[in-house]
Amino acid sequence: MRIVADTTRCVGAGQCVLSEPAVFDQDEVEGTVVVLSEQPGEPELTGVREAVDVCPSQALSLTEE
Ligand code: SF4
Repeated sequence: MRIVADTTRCVGAGQCVLSEPAVFDQDEVEGTVVVLSEQPGEPELTGVREAVDVCPSQALSLTEE
């Protein structure tokens, strides 16, 4: 699984960071999402899936790679 983050859609809401802080952070200046680990391990996947679901701008997706 690989995370795809579209920073042009990201509105900096930070929901992804709340869902899985080990994988998502926010740019200090822009507030947009920073993916710390593009290929998260099994322990993080639940939080990553939650982040994909709760992102208000549909900026996050998962691909099978
Ligand atoms: S939840 Fe979505 S809009 Fe908010 S910071 Fe994360 S990627 Fe950006």
